[in-house]
Amino acid sequence: MDQTQIDALRAQPVPAFSHLIDGKHVAASDGGTMDIKSPIDGQVFTTTAKGTVADMQAAITSARAAFEDGRWAGQSPAARKKVLMKWADLIEANALELAVLGVRDNGTEINMAIKAEPGSAAGTIRYYAEALDKIYGEIAPTSSDVLGMIHKEPVGVVGAIIPWNFPMMIGAWKLGPALAMGNSVVLKPAETASLSLMRMCDLAHEAGLPAGVLNAVTGEGAVVGEAMGLSMDIDVLVFTGSGGTGRRLMEYAARSNMKRVYLELGGKSPNIIFADAPNLDEAAKVAAGGIFRNAGQVCVAGSRLLVEASIHDDFVAAVAKATSMMRVGDPLDMSTAIGAVNSEVQLRQNLGFVDTAVSEGGEIVLGGQRILQETGGYYMAPTIVTGVTPEATLTQKEVFGPVLGVTPFTTDDEAVRIANATVYGLAGAVWTSNLSRAHRMVRSVRTGVMHVNTYGGADGTVPLGGVGQSGNGSDKSLHAIEKYINLKTAWIKL
Ligand code: NAD
Repeated sequence: MDQTQIDALRAQPVPAFSHLIDGKHVAASDGGTMDIKSPIDGQVFTTTAKGTVADMQAAITSARAAFEDGRWAGQSPAARKKVLMKWADLIEANALELAVLGVRDNGTEINMAIKAEPGSAAGTIRYYAEALDKIYGEIAPTSSDVLGMIHKEPVGVVGAIIPWNFPMMIGAWKLGPALAMGNSVVLKPAETASLSLMRMCDLAHEAGLPAGVLNAVTGEGAVVGEAMGLSMDIDVLVFTGSGGTGRRLMEYAARSNMKRVYLELGGKSPNIIFADAPNLDEAAKVAAGGIFRNAGQVCVAGSRLLVEASIHDDFVAAVAKATSMMRVGDPLDMSTAIGAVNSEVQLRQNLGFVDTAVSEGGEIVLGGQRILQETGGYYMAPTIVTGVTPEATLTQKEVFGPVLGVTPFTTDDEAVRIANATVYGLAGAVWTSNLSRAHRMVRSVRTGVMHVNTYGGADGTVPLGGVGQSGNGSDKSLHAIEKYINLKTAWIKL
């Protein structure tokens, strides 16, 4: 990747996008479209289909027909594996084009997007392609006059609703295991980041995925997302996004066919720094990256910094210094460390959180405002607020933006109490040289992922899932497969 290639791709016009239903690109049933604005400059650069309830129903009907006639589920594992491996290769071969398209759509800095989006998506698809012919059923330890067999069957039609922060990566976390196990899928990308994911679905068909196995419908969550949630013909719904939408999806399931619902929701993850951390300068740099990359729009972002009181002022100064060295700006410039906020709505929300933090006694030590307004884009200075109490809004509510709240603590018990004082439980970290303390903190802090002397970067071999109101079920690793299969018992009298 070099800047000339990126600039050439960014100069290309982007044609209008439509749904992908039954292997064909189709417009919305009423001809509706949505303007797609780039967060880089606030300008409209293409349109997508604005889906209707009828469009969603057509996609679900197509997926159901594909599942029932076995055009994918009925293929041998080796044949499915070949298609998925080819798909991963095509994603890699088109990585830069996909990454630039995605960045124009959602604003993530390109040096992160290239790895986290096509890079990660290709790796995920390949991981599940390689796994799919190594998943066995079971023979139960029964008495000798019966045979108890446990088959692992695809669930049928999976509905997947994706957020805007990492559409390809999170899309692949759902699509990889769902398709590997033989299911059909209907995908609903986010309004403000659908393009690269839609293009990735086209590549699946180029790789040989049969028509109808993967359908994708763009449009508003409240219309097409709701239609998916209320469908009587979706067997499993998988979702990444906000808690509010997650709650609605559970209601939709209860009101319709009681489909299984798996939720990956937000977090308010504590990054806990003890004075005995092995390298406090390194910890400060990683803490800054752990909250500010992708403008804080990362579900596992370390958005709460808990610092042992004896080093509080020096450590906050070190984080502020490390943050000041991260260039905010055009996400398609390779030297940018922090790109754009995804939308104007999100930017306004972020600034509102800063105002609330100040009104509740917090002190801004860095940032706090919108910047680069002359570009027309949505940029925010990375913001650090000290004096944030455990009860404050900045502790209790997810911002999903570049805002770090800092809270001091004096003992291990107090650190755990503050860390666990929210409804969330997605990620966290502890920095210490004391092995016993590290293990105690890993046990005591209620999260799905706990880092020790690092933040982020957990690869596809380990699960990512939340506890509490951060969600249920896991993406990544072989554990994710459990969401996309049914166990069926065969009880045979011998
Ligand atoms: P969101 O809930 O508004 O939207 C997510 C998706 O849900 C979008 O595709 C949207 O169109 C759809 N949607 C919205 N309303 C719907 C409805 N009524 N019915 C069905 N679908 C609907 O969330 P967002 O603003 O796009 O994403 C940000 C949130 O996602 C943050 O809270 C963040 O923490 C969370 N997130 C979590 C993870 C994780 O792995 N746990 C990863 C990324 C983001």
